[in-house]
Parts: sequence; structure tokens; C-alpha cells
Amino acid sequence: MKAVCWFGKGDVRVENVSEPKIINPHDAIIKVSLTAICGSDLHLYDGYMPTMEKGDILGHEFMGEIVEVGREVRNLKKGDRVVVPFPISCGRCYFCQKDMWSLCDNTNPNAWMAEGMYGFAGAAIFGYSHLLGGYAGGQAEYVRVPFADVGHVKIPADLPDEKVLFLSDILPTGYQAAEYCGIQPGDVVAVWGCGPVGQFAIKSAYLLGAEHVIAIDRIPERLRLAETFGGAETLNYEENEDVVEELKQRTGGRGPDACIDAVGLEAHGTGLGIMYDKVKQTLRLETDRPYALRQAIQACCKGGTVSIPGVYAQFADKFPIGSAFAKGLTFKMGQTHVHKYMRPLLERIQKGEIDPSAIISHRIRLDDAPIAYRKFREKEDCHIKIVLKP
Ligand SMILES: [Zn+2]
Ligand SMILES: [Zn+2]
Repeated sequence: MKAVCWFGKGDVRVENVSEPKIINPHDAIIKVSLTAICGSDLHLYDGYMPTMEKGDILGHEFMGEIVEVGREVRNLKKGDRVVVPFPISCGRCYFCQKDMWSLCDNTNPNAWMAEGMYGFAGAAIFGYSHLLGGYAGGQAEYVRVPFADVGHVKIPADLPDEKVLFLSDILPTGYQAAEYCGIQPGDVVAVWGCGPVGQFAIKSAYLLGAEHVIAIDRIPERLRLAETFGGAETLNYEENEDVVEELKQRTGGRGPDACIDAVGLEAHGTGLGIMYDKVKQTLRLETDRPYALRQAIQACCKGGTVSIPGVYAQFADKFPIGSAFAKGLTFKMGQTHVHKYMRPLLERIQKGEIDPSAIISHRIRLDDAPIAYRKFREKEDCHIKIVLKP
């Protein structure tokens, strides 16, 4: 079968590899009908994620048709159409039982690596390094889904792939980020980063009752989408460099009630702060560039919440803990508990409250994935979301 494989920094190829087989009785094999490239796949592409090996199959956002199930899978059969959540979760451990699916204790066979880095290991993730389990990803014609009887959500026939694919990651991720803000009526929410997660965070903030959302980015197409799809007011930080001051101005001097950092460890920015981070990151003196996060902490209203769906890997410098402490901020962050949100969000899609396909900017054949990665990295013709058709 064809699969998108990682070969090194900036080197992704479509290779012919052997088809996956059932290994465990709880597995299913899926024939992928649609998959996507995620912003976090760029962290792999850029070589920021350790423990990738040449030939690893990428992709954690995918859906398709069940072609085979293991003997213990009783709630799925051949021909069912499913979306698969990106964290692999057992459904039985302490954390899964508490609805904290991305913290599953049982699915990462390389937990020792993550424990060495973070102290504890979370759930494994499809196509996202050996540190996170070493499972083959879904940017391929077929994929093996472990714990298939736990993770899936069956999709009714009348919903097209493009409307439901993003239940696998970015829609729940944007929604969780907004839910973490504990939005009260009248609240103003600011969102850094108008990529796909940012777009869904904006939309979700309104669905959860925000009065007003301010979207921050530098790419005009993304800002336009934040207006038309999300209904946000926008702030271009290249035109308006003092983001913190501008946010104060727009919120009666108080700052947004909640701030969402949908950017993460590869932030862009302007001025001295970002130069400092880029130099330190290049010299490996710092792993993460927390530029957006610093602004979010500085801008946030006293007593407010900073919610972080953007991915951070390890250490960040000049983290303004004093400011966060003095203002009594609440922080919420982490990988998304996708399983918890899939069904309620599927219902919102069915009711027409949200149409996730609106953010798709490019529809590309799986064969052209290497070009798509390169263009996505360089933000050529301003890609927002690329879907790949095997
Ligand atoms: Zn993703
Ligand atoms: Zn578990």
C-alpha cells in the first residue's frame, strides 16, 4: 500500500509499504477514505520531535471504512464508517475511566521514554514518534487501529467525510480549549493563532457563550476566515506590534477574560523577544518558543484563564510566572481528551451548528503529500487545512 513516510527533517516521501495486519484481538483495520495534515505534523517535519525513525508512517487525523476486526471487537463490523480519535486509549485504566483519555496509562509501549522526559507517560498517538508509542499513522491507504472497540465513533451515511474528519483531532481540540476557559456570559476571549485549532476555538467560544472573540494572527487569509467562519474581531500583530496594549484598549483596559494559545512551540512574532527564542532554540538552549504564551499571560485579565491547546515539548524560557501569580491566573492545557467530545460534537455537526469542512483550503491526492508538506511549511498560497485523499 501507499503511505506517507518520514525520512528526516524536511524529508517526507510516499512509499510502498506492507499492509497492516491484526495483531491484537481488539484491533481493526481501516481503509482510509480521508486524512489530513495537522499543524503538529509540522513539528515532526521540522525535526522538533525526538525518536522519529526513517520510514515511520505519519498521520493522526483520519477516517475510513472497517475492512477487518479482531475477534474481541464486538461493536464494529466490516463496512462500518468510523472517525478515529488521535490518542490511543484503552478505556479501562484510571484515567480513561475518569474521561481523561489522552492520559491513558496502557497504550504506550514506550512509556519509559516519555517517563524519562516528563516523569509520566500519556496515551500513545498515531504516527507521532516512538516516544509516543511508535504506532503507524493514517496518512496511508490502510491503518491498524488498536483498541478499535473503544475509540471510534460511527458516522451516519448522510454525513460526508469532509464534515466529520476533524472530529479526530482539531475540532475537539479547539472545543476543549474553549471549554477550559470556563466562559461566562459577557466574557471576551482572545485567541492567538488562526490555524485550524484557533478557528475551532473561536467558533467553540461563541457556542459556549462568549460575548466577543478577538483573533490574533499575521496571515490575512487566516484572519479573514476568523471573521467569516468564526465571527471574530481580528488583530494582525504585524500591523499592530503591541498586542498586549491593543488588547487592553479593546477590552476597556481590563484585558480578555480568557486567552487561548493555539500557537505552541514554534511561534512567530516580531521584535526582540522572538529573536531571543529563535537563537536559543537553534542552539538547543531552549526547546520551545513561548512567544504567544508570554503575550497571553501578560494580556489576560486579572483572575482570568489561559488555555493552551498549542503543543509544547519541554522547556520554555522567560515564562512570566510572576505576572501569572500576581494576576491570579488559571492555566489549563494538554492533549485533547478526544473521546469525550466526539459524540457531542458529532451532534452539533448534525444539527448544523458547525460545519468543520469550511476550513479546508486544499484537497490533495495522497501521492502529492510531499509537495503539500513543503507548501504547508512555507505557508505558500496560505494553506489553512490540507486534506489528503488516498
Ligand atoms: Zn492533529
Ligand atoms: Zn486507558
